[in-house]
Amino acid sequence: MTSLHCSVQGCANYKDDLCCRPDIMVGGPDSEDKAQTYCANFLEESGDAPSDAVDDASPNPSLDIHCEVANCMYNEDRACSARHVDIRTTRVNGGQIKTECATFHSAR
Ligand code: SF4
Repeated sequence: MTSLHCSVQGCANYKDDLCCRPDIMVGGPDSEDKAQTYCANFLEESGDAPSDAVDDASPNPSLDIHCEVANCMYNEDRACSARHVDIRTTRVNGGQIKTECATFHSAR
């Protein structure tokens, strides 16, 4: 399990700088840069309770992180081997806000 810090406050699974899910998937299989990665479980916050959060009042300090970013030095058979991962927001394309894995480190 990986210690996860998340600062994506607009996600329905977010609470207290942590995630309430039991696991997440980081996407962006061909990423060459951290800005090309993303949290595939981002769920835009709405008035409704998140449908895929186990318990939105109970954040998990460590969880399984599945990852399809082939070019990351921490990717081992589509699982993240980093001890700590930061998921955060970033701006791309002149202002569009998206999520990214800030711990991504190119294996090349
Ligand atoms: S550190 Fe690398 S392997 Fe781990 S979740 Fe981020 S991109 Fe995937």
